[in-house]
Amino acid sequence: MPECLFCGIAAGEIPAKIVLDAARTLAFRDINPQAPTHVLVITKAHYPNLATLAADESLLAELVSQVHEVARAEGIADSGYRVVFNTGGHAGQSVDHVHAHVIGGRPMAWTPG
Ligand code: 5GP
Ligand code: ZN
Repeated sequence: MPECLFCGIAAGEIPAKIVLDAARTLAFRDINPQAPTHVLVITKAHYPNLATLAADESLLAELVSQVHEVARAEGIADSGYRVVFNTGGHAGQSVDHVHAHVIGGRPMAWTPG
C-alpha cells in the first residue's frame, strides 16, 4: 500500500471511479457518497490540505476549475451544488491529501453539524 491513499489513486495504483482526468488534477467518485453526486477533486501532487495548496495559486485555480467542470458534467451546475474542503481536525478531515468534495443532486441543509 502506498503511504497516501489519494496519491495511490492519482498514480492509478488504487482503483477509483474516475470522473475527469486532467494534467494536474483528478476527479473521482467518493466511496461513501452522501448525495446522488459526490465527487472528490484532488491535485495529483501531494499537498496535505488547502492551506498548503494555497501557496500554488495556479494549481489551486486548476483544482477549482475542475470542480465546476465536474458540476457541469454531472448535470448539477444549474440546480446547485456544494464544495467542501474539510481542513484539519475540527472539520473532520480524514485523508491528508487535499480534496474538494463536490456534492449535489438533492437539496441540502445548512449549517453543517
Ligand atoms: P474527508 O473526511 O478527509 O474530508 O474526506 C475523505 C473522503 O474520502 C470521505 O468522504 C471518504 O468517503 C472518501 N474515501 C475514503 N477512502 C476512499 C477510497 O478508498 N476511495 C474513494 N473513492 N474515496 C474514499
Ligand atoms: Zn497524497
